[in-house]
Amino acid sequence: MDLLKPAEASAAPSLRERGQIDDRFKWDLTKIYPDWNAWQTAYAELDRKIDEFAALRGSLDGGSKALLGALALRDQIGQLEYKVWYFASLCYDQDQRDNQANAKRQQVQILFAKAAQASAWFDPELLMIPLEDVRAWMDNSRELAVYRFAIEDLYRQQEHVLDDKGERLLSLSSRFSSAPNDAYAALSTADVKHPTVVLPSGVESTLTYGQYRAILATNPNQADRAAAFHEFHKVYEATVNTYAALYNGVLQRDWFHAQARGYRSTLEAALHGNNIPTAVVENLIAQAKAGTDPLRRYHRLRKRILGLETYHSYDTAIPLVEFDRKYPYDDVVAGLPASVASLGSDYQREMRDVLNGNVIDVYENPGKRSGAYSAPVYGCQPFMLLNYNDTLDAAFTLAHEMGHSMHTVLSHRSQPFVYAGYTIFVAEVPSTLSEALFLEYMLARSNDEHERIVLLQHAIDGIVTTFYTQVMFADYELQAHRLVEEGKPVTADVLGDIYFALLQAYHGDAIDYDEQSHVTWARIPHFYSTPYYVYQYATCFASSAQLMKQLTSGAEADRDEAIARYLNLLKAGGSDHPMTLLKQAGVDLSQPETVQAVVEQLDVLVTQLEHAVAEG
Ligand SMILES: [Zn+2]
Repeated sequence: MDLLKPAEASAAPSLRERGQIDDRFKWDLTKIYPDWNAWQTAYAELDRKIDEFAALRGSLDGGSKALLGALALRDQIGQLEYKVWYFASLCYDQDQRDNQANAKRQQVQILFAKAAQASAWFDPELLMIPLEDVRAWMDNSRELAVYRFAIEDLYRQQEHVLDDKGERLLSLSSRFSSAPNDAYAALSTADVKHPTVVLPSGVESTLTYGQYRAILATNPNQADRAAAFHEFHKVYEATVNTYAALYNGVLQRDWFHAQARGYRSTLEAALHGNNIPTAVVENLIAQAKAGTDPLRRYHRLRKRILGLETYHSYDTAIPLVEFDRKYPYDDVVAGLPASVASLGSDYQREMRDVLNGNVIDVYENPGKRSGAYSAPVYGCQPFMLLNYNDTLDAAFTLAHEMGHSMHTVLSHRSQPFVYAGYTIFVAEVPSTLSEALFLEYMLARSNDEHERIVLLQHAIDGIVTTFYTQVMFADYELQAHRLVEEGKPVTADVLGDIYFALLQAYHGDAIDYDEQSHVTWARIPHFYSTPYYVYQYATCFASSAQLMKQLTSGAEADRDEAIARYLNLLKAGGSDHPMTLLKQAGVDLSQPETVQAVVEQLDVLVTQLEHAVAEG
């Protein structure tokens, strides 16, 4: 996932056309379909199966066999959807100027909307049958028993499933539900005019988000960073009312769905699917807010080391020491399996298979989607998009995405299709753990004082951006959604005030504030695309911190057990509720101590950094 990583996009190798990049650094989409004709055939097959599924309506009371038939057909549709979607979507992401790929991608989205309508009958019809009857069918059919968790979970959510008519109405709304986010994407990406500015030092720069972040992360001149900050934020100030109107669209949509399904709040609606108590988020926010002390200590330390009179949000990403070591892709690929040695040789071998499988798109090219992700293409190895630029951050991004890819490999192999996908709530555990193992590996090998400081800063910034910033974002989303739930107006001013007050609550007097930070919220993509998503980075981070401790400390027998439990978590995919799966792996997120562990970890790292700086 695309976090607010500092120091990203610096020292990029020169931009090459896609055709100039060696094939071994590009993903091979023919592993999904050999060409667009094969894709079209699969698309037609998917379309046909969707019609077949619609025709099964009214058949479920036929008993065990009828239910199994419908579930099996639904699995076939799901498997096809993965490949049909990702072939078009990955093709589009490698060059977003490709209108043909964009059109095909949209064609799939239209088909998905049709699939949602064609299957809207299923849940209400199944729920008409008493659970006791379905349980008796499952007891007598091994094939049907595979679906036990999924079926029982559906009955758990019964009170929030509408009748056939209601479900159809909601499914019809799916097409315009995405409009606020589509408009946000157009406004912030396709239609945005990036200003070209001359910075105080005389350097000219076109302030795309990437360039802007690169200046904050690499430009040692505070006046340049300040100017970049001011000019970059002017873009959002100029259209902030439009952003507020779009975000209001997101909030209203979420509240509409929550109310339509009978939830008391948008948060409850967002968490109920995974059976997560709202108290988990409320505790997370309370614990993080109570644990801002090491965060403020870190910023004060930074201010001192950087020798700044005033310390602003645009000073939080600049490195503490000069360090321009390159981490070439091939070197990191060679080292990454060694960093996970503690997880066993099978795990290492699987990782090498992915690294050498022609499923990673490594370098940037014109038109390519920014950021990084791992795409779980069912029936193939997971694909990975990177914009690798030889920096330490790029190396850690690779480690992060490899965590996702390994999770996919293990869960897809170990689970039946219905549970092959894992929830977001667990997803960021292996990715952050993979980063933590890579950090340990790098720290253990480093004999360069500067590199040690850089690594410690990297670890600390990881906690700041993956934990504190994400909890702050969650706090923001919760407060914004509550405006709508309480029937209060949503304006750019109100949204700006919430954001600004949060910055102050987290950072206290450790930073100097700029009025323009009032509009920073307008840019955050997750707010529009996936509400109530980012808190999971923080819970995952807390989980992985606790797992890391269990995997790397204590008696050998305890460690072996912890490793087995962890691999079981990855293999478990979505076969149970995430809180249950994490508990089995040794993590209890309902406990304040689990969250507190991150605060303590930051405290230790800041102390280490203080010592390293004193010695360096
Ligand atoms: Zn991620």
